[in-house]
Amino acid sequence: MNEDHQFTPIATDATFQFHCHRSLACFNSCCRDLNQALTPYDILRLRAHLKLLTTEFLKQYVTIYIGPETNLPIASFRFHDQRNRNCPFVTPEGCSVYPARPASCRIYPLARALVRSSSGGLPQAHYAIMREPHCTGFGEKKSQTVNQWVRGQGLQAYHEMNDEIIEFISLKNRLIPGPLSNGQLQLIRLAFYDLDKLKQLAVCADLNPMTDSLNKLMPHSTDHDPVWLQWSLKWIRFAIFGENASHPNSRK
Ligand code: SF4
Ligand code: SF4
Repeated sequence: MNEDHQFTPIATDATFQFHCHRSLACFNSCCRDLNQALTPYDILRLRAHLKLLTTEFLKQYVTIYIGPETNLPIASFRFHDQRNRNCPFVTPEGCSVYPARPASCRIYPLARALVRSSSGGLPQAHYAIMREPHCTGFGEKKSQTVNQWVRGQGLQAYHEMNDEIIEFISLKNRLIPGPLSNGQLQLIRLAFYDLDKLKQLAVCADLNPMTDSLNKLMPHSTDHDPVWLQWSLKWIRFAIFGENASHPNSRK
């Protein structure tokens, strides 16, 4: 929703009052008028739930544009009607892909940011409560801590994957602050959002650039999506940044 958001920082062990359920008058209103980016891991979870390959999922449900700040490809839902910008998965009964809903749907009413201290070290997650005027869930009696919410919403796996993307963006801003070439954008689109196609190219030895070490680290075709996504991020870091892809907090 495009309303004024009010952010209040909150510690991970602090409690907040909130409960979202279908008896509320606002039920489903947050699945309309969307302005929501989809992460690579969101797309993998959704396409697995719908039993589609990433290429087909992108074609049916996703639009990709170049972010004005990062100059990187950003994915968002494709809307049937641009006037109401309804999520393609919202139904009168609620979310039709609930077990695979994106991280941004799970985390609300919280917002999370990774903050790197000036002295270096691993980035720390900070949370805030995001209050939107239309949301009546704050008036409900149920309370929980931030940690309980994160666990209950199954967010850990999403955060682990999404933090790797944040690291890629930070590396891009540091090493290539300006726009990328069309060729570079195509490779990033492939590595971020079309993992099934990238897997196919890698398994058929038809993927460039490929080094011996990337080849040795390549997962088996039967390995799970997170393993392949981590590998694809190593591949794209090499493809875009070459040997300069070292990062103070990079995982090997
Ligand atoms: S309570 Fe808030 S999150 Fe839940 S349906 Fe209403 S607007 Fe959406
Ligand atoms: S994926 Fe589900 S929860 Fe998220 S906006 Fe769409 S319908 Fe709503």
